[in-house]
Amino acid sequence: MNQDAERRLVLESGLRRALENGEFCLHYQPKVDIASGRITAMEALVRWEHPELGLVPAGDFIPLAEETGLIFPLGEWVLEQACRQNRHWQQEGLVPLRIAVNISGYQLQQKNFIQRIREILAATGMEARYLEIEITETVVMQNPDFAVALLKQLADLGVHIAIDDFGTGYSSLAHLKRFSVNTLKIDKSFMRDVEINATDAAIATAIIAMGNSLKLQVIAEGVETQGQLDFLKKLSCSEMQGYLFSRPLPAAEMSRMLRQVEDFVEDESAHECSAQ
Ligand code: C2E
Ligand code: MG
Ligand code: MG
Ligand code: MG
Repeated sequence: MNQDAERRLVLESGLRRALENGEFCLHYQPKVDIASGRITAMEALVRWEHPELGLVPAGDFIPLAEETGLIFPLGEWVLEQACRQNRHWQQEGLVPLRIAVNISGYQLQQKNFIQRIREILAATGMEARYLEIEITETVVMQNPDFAVALLKQLADLGVHIAIDDFGTGYSSLAHLKRFSVNTLKIDKSFMRDVEINATDAAIATAIIAMGNSLKLQVIAEGVETQGQLDFLKKLSCSEMQGYLFSRPLPAAEMSRMLRQVEDFVEDESAHECSAQ
């Protein structure tokens, strides 16, 4: 058996008990306003602390969780944990930020999805406006009429909505106009070679221009280099996320970063005051 197949088997057989055993955790990656350099939100990304394999990234097991149905309890756990952690940061007195949670297409189709969001917000005491839902463009476009209705319900709750991996899922402008979304998130595959590949640069440019003219926020994911950031700045892209600013961090490290950033901002404003 090749190594990939063997790894898949190990992951598959461990997935069931992983939730009961508390083997999942969330890492948090900041989203940054390009003009001000301020953190605007954090994206929660699930990780599996596998007893033998170590830290497994979401991309390696979310598809398995979807195939086996574990995505339902896992998805709820992620939502609740992310809201609880964000509420905790707010209660510590940090400037309130949005927490973004990735939602699988399977979760969206649950009859009680909207009700569960309401219940989780109530149980954790987090306000809806601090929750951001990330849904991929592919999922949205699988059933655009269903998506229009569901996104409207989420928007009515006051939840912020982002379309993830944008540019890979064939949205038409006509559809985009009907969706109650706040943000387009440019897929990281377009960012990777944006400095050297004219096609990728053209697609990223078109998405930013389209977002700006529809008054949507546009965020680029997978930003790793200063050159990529310069490109985004030139085109007035609103936000960025990627290793250039920070990798996804465990909660304790994210706490430290949030406090450092606030101290820095306070120092800056103290400086401004004394200079007056
Ligand atoms: P995504 O939501 O598009 O997340 C972006 C992925 O890119 C994450 O991988 C993140 O760790 C990675 N990334 C962040 N910055 C950079 C960068 O600068 N360069 C590169 N090369 N990569 C970067 P991850 O955590 O493995 O997640 C993969 C996908 O799994 C996510 O894509 C999302 O669709 C899904 N996912 C993650 N967490 C959850 C979750 O809690 N629930 C559900 N349903 N899906 C999740
Ligand atoms: Mg995402
Ligand atoms: Mg993405
Ligand atoms: Mg993705």
